[in-house]
Amino acid sequence: MNIKDKTWNPWHGCHKCSEGCQNCFVYVFDQRYGRDTNKVLKNESSFKAPLAKDKNGNYKIKSGNFVRVCMTSDFFLEEADEWRCEAWKIIRQRPDVTFSLLTKRAERIKANLPEDWGDGWDNVQIAVSTENQKRADERIPYLLDVPCKSRWISVKPFIGEINLEKYLATGKIYTVLAGGENYRGSRPLYYEWIKSLHDQCVRTNVPLIFAQTGNIFIKDGKEYKIYNLKDQNKQAILANLSYPERNKEEIIKAIKEIDEISKKINVNLEV
Ligand code: SF4
Repeated sequence: MNIKDKTWNPWHGCHKCSEGCQNCFVYVFDQRYGRDTNKVLKNESSFKAPLAKDKNGNYKIKSGNFVRVCMTSDFFLEEADEWRCEAWKIIRQRPDVTFSLLTKRAERIKANLPEDWGDGWDNVQIAVSTENQKRADERIPYLLDVPCKSRWISVKPFIGEINLEKYLATGKIYTVLAGGENYRGSRPLYYEWIKSLHDQCVRTNVPLIFAQTGNIFIKDGKEYKIYNLKDQNKQAILANLSYPERNKEEIIKAIKEIDEISKKINVNLEV
């Protein structure tokens, strides 16, 4: 999961379904452009994007790419039931690309897998979003129950203390991604929460990526307001709470990479 990842949004729009949706960025941007996020529409122009080719007949999404699916919706949304079969067919045609499906509708995953899913396709990762303990306890059991080659957990936005240790101890989760919340009304991320999650990952030997602090980060009782994504990424690296932990040289290298990337893409998350 990095800046080189591709996105594929076969449909657009969603409905808020839990606490983590409160400041959903899709709503923020749709509001800016006068679009109704609750109206779920098929993206006709980009529906077949993974199969699109350039003038030389090569796939635009290259072999080996990592594709994040439905960043402006949810792959397992009810309204998408009529389009999902076609999306699976497209995914099946690109075994050379990894498709990552992140959902808050974990209870719908199993019933909406393709007929030839078997014990999972090699090119598909499935993840659930768990913003707090309540949603972790609701969604992760569904994820663990789904036959799948690769499962991960997203703790973004990280808005409540969380203990995932019993789920991580199953050996069925290959990584955890964590980060604070952004945009107006962001709720704080406390240093103690991410430290606790880090320790759980260490004890169960599951990799943790602490990607960003979010707009409001609280450490030692002090509140830090961090609106630039570059600064959030840097502070997360300096906290050194990913696992495996980086050594000093790796931290310096990662900070340099962020500076390089932010010369091209500078994202301010204050709205
Ligand atoms: S499920 Fe995801 S895309 Fe849908 S409203 Fe919630 S945060 Fe937004």
